[in-house]
Amino acid sequence: MNPEDRIQQLTQELNQHNYNYYVLDNPIISDYEFDMKLRELQQLEKQFPQLADANSPTQRVGGQITKNFKTIPHKYRMYSLSNAYSTQELEEWIQRVEKSVGQHAQYTCELKFDGASISLKYIHGKLAEAVTRGDGFQGDEITTNVRTIRSVPMQLNGSVPDELYVRGEIMLPLIGFQQINAEREELGLEPFMNPRNTASGSLKMQDSAEVAKRPLEAFMYSVQGQNLPFETQSEMLQFCRNSGFKVPDSAKLCHNIQEILDFIQYWDVNRQNLPYEIDGVVVKVNQLYLQNELGYTAKSPRWAIAYKFRAEQSQTRLNSITYQVGRTGAVTPVANLQPVLLAGTTVKRASLHNADIIQQLDVRLGDMVLVEKGGEIIPKITGVNLDLRPENAQKTEFIQHCPECNTELVRHEGEAAHYCPNEDGCPPQIKGKIEHFVSRKAMNIDSIGTETIALLYDAGLVNQISDLYDLTHQDILPLERMAEKSVNNIIDAIQKSTQIPFHKVLYALGIRFVGETVAKKLVDAFPNIDALMQASQSDLESVDTIGNRIAESVCNWFKNPNHQQIIEKLRNYGIQFVAEKSENISGILEGQTFLFTGKLTQFTRDEAKEMVEKNGGKLISSVTKNLQNLVVGENAGSKLKKAEQLGTVKILTEHEFLDLLNL
Ligand code: AMP
Ligand code: ZN
Repeated sequence: MNPEDRIQQLTQELNQHNYNYYVLDNPIISDYEFDMKLRELQQLEKQFPQLADANSPTQRVGGQITKNFKTIPHKYRMYSLSNAYSTQELEEWIQRVEKSVGQHAQYTCELKFDGASISLKYIHGKLAEAVTRGDGFQGDEITTNVRTIRSVPMQLNGSVPDELYVRGEIMLPLIGFQQINAEREELGLEPFMNPRNTASGSLKMQDSAEVAKRPLEAFMYSVQGQNLPFETQSEMLQFCRNSGFKVPDSAKLCHNIQEILDFIQYWDVNRQNLPYEIDGVVVKVNQLYLQNELGYTAKSPRWAIAYKFRAEQSQTRLNSITYQVGRTGAVTPVANLQPVLLAGTTVKRASLHNADIIQQLDVRLGDMVLVEKGGEIIPKITGVNLDLRPENAQKTEFIQHCPECNTELVRHEGEAAHYCPNEDGCPPQIKGKIEHFVSRKAMNIDSIGTETIALLYDAGLVNQISDLYDLTHQDILPLERMAEKSVNNIIDAIQKSTQIPFHKVLYALGIRFVGETVAKKLVDAFPNIDALMQASQSDLESVDTIGNRIAESVCNWFKNPNHQQIIEKLRNYGIQFVAEKSENISGILEGQTFLFTGKLTQFTRDEAKEMVEKNGGKLISSVTKNLQNLVVGENAGSKLKKAEQLGTVKILTEHEFLDLLNL
């Protein structure tokens, strides 16, 4: 099969599998098979760049950077919705509508997805542009980022009008939100406030590869264009679905007010079981000709209304505020509440986030506070009932010293959180660092858990990560709940950890902002610990995706004499401080293409391939105009002949090839 056909075939297959997985939730091939197909397509596109398409499934993983988002006017204005907060307001709206059109209407009820709205333009069924709502008249063009959202089809199914605008909401499901925050906390970053802001923030990231990592979803609910093949809102939803979009099947066609109220009632209760957040129900006149008759006000359609749910909220007394110190030294204020029932669970604690929030809310001890449950695991305080404020309640002062080690707290510029700077002397930070060090993705010493670490620390046996390697059988055995076998396991696991590769060791050190990905990047650029320790801030910044915040953090960490001592100790214990195999050796072959032919005697084909790729070159599979270098072994045949005929190909012996690489 020629490459063009194969690319087309792979694209179609991958689009279909992607659809099965992300829209239908019903994959029919394994992830592995999917990856193999994707890889083949990536390879072909590399070889034949002229055949690569902006809407190729390979674009789902992102990679393109957008420095400035272009402003694009909306062809059809993106209106907002008028709101109803009570069933009475809703009933009044229905009366107005039916009086205005002079007839009884039908209504579709849809969930009001709490995300970021988006408008997608399709030309001849292909995704051409994705634009944020902006001010409703114009928004930001974020097409490359949106291509990474798996439930957005790049190519529509069936025959669709030449130009189509499809609208909907980009959502971040709760699980994804919680995962992102867990990762942020691990990196010492402040957690995001809620899924909606995180979704809209994600869409505006410059690096589409980062967007691709966020598990965003797209739910679509509206279509605009000429000569559309439907006459009602519910047919429009079905059209969206048939074209390949994800349209939750919660929408319902209602014939009277009672059915609408039942729908609202049902979802007000059951929204707690949804994997994403909704903030109400949107009721729309179903017949499009009636929608046209009703038209728009200056801000919103007259044919739709959003019934907003009241957030699950309770009032209770604020008994005290305590401050927790995390692994990174970030101090989080926690409100301890008089226990109260909220959305089916008893709530005793709520997050107060940081000093700014405390100040904004002006919460004081003894206040009756409003508690809400949103997407966060721990509920939040959203207000204070001032009518019930006790007399002489004192303004809350954020603590100035660490509750654990009494060091004066600091606040980095531009950050809301306070930190305890006593990294190496503050108990929760020390214990947290050890926990991080032994964790599965780091040194994988899984026989030591939080409790054991606390025991080891309290017994004065482990004060820093390098102390782990001094532990003996006799040290550990006397500790609470230790037996011969568990001690052996611990000692074994510590011993085994000396084989953990350098990039994991670097991650394990727990340097602020150095997560797994950053650690790998750093190790690719600085293949041993000495190179890394000697690197200046600007050396570090010259590595792709390493910004000045990370560079500064790494530099400062290694400058600290305590840390240098830890490194020396770890080195003596035989911890891996050299990369196993340096990944990219050089860019010497950057932009050059290679093909090997004949029997190779100096290296195998696999080695040849590796050498080319690791030095920035590309392999191609046949002699064409794109081929620049043909490396010939013994008994070379037709490929050599063809290259000689072409006359544009440089012909190299194996030795000459090695010379290129200075090998
Ligand atoms: P608001 O921002 O409160 O004026 O509400 C209008 C927004 O609700 C729209 O811009 C949409 O982004 C969003 N929305 C969420 N779900 C729906 C839906 N099913 N139908 C229409 N709009 C929706
Ligand atoms: Zn402290």
